[in-house]
Amino acid sequence: MTEDYLELLNRIKDSLKKEKVNTAPRLAIPEPEVFLTGHRTIIRNFRAIANALNREPGKVLINIAKQLGAPATMGKEGEAIILGKKDFQAIRNTIQYYIKTNVTCPVCGSMDTKLTKERRITFIICEACGSRSPIK
Ligand SMILES: [Zn+2]
Repeated sequence: MTEDYLELLNRIKDSLKKEKVNTAPRLAIPEPEVFLTGHRTIIRNFRAIANALNREPGKVLINIAKQLGAPATMGKEGEAIILGKKDFQAIRNTIQYYIKTNVTCPVCGSMDTKLTKERRITFIICEACGSRSPIK
């Protein structure tokens, strides 16, 4: 009786494990780790976020800085350093906006994309559906 019960528990545990692997998102974007130091705002895991989006951190940061209207630089540890005090929600919104405009394919919604520049126009090239969409 007890053995049957343990076996059942193990079977449930196994199936839970399998389920977890199957439902894991293919592209997991980390939440920004934002903290303030003096008059600066630090996004500690900025490089990790850019890597998850398959974009160059420096280029993502230029976009974020423009949105925030604040100068920003990359730190040695892959963190972004933004001049001025910005709250978590503001930072999160700029990253979401970047993902919406510079990462997500407007045709199929895939985030498996890359950017290419032609005659001053940047295009999103989608690896999933093959479309090529200019960024506004
Ligand atoms: Zn697509």
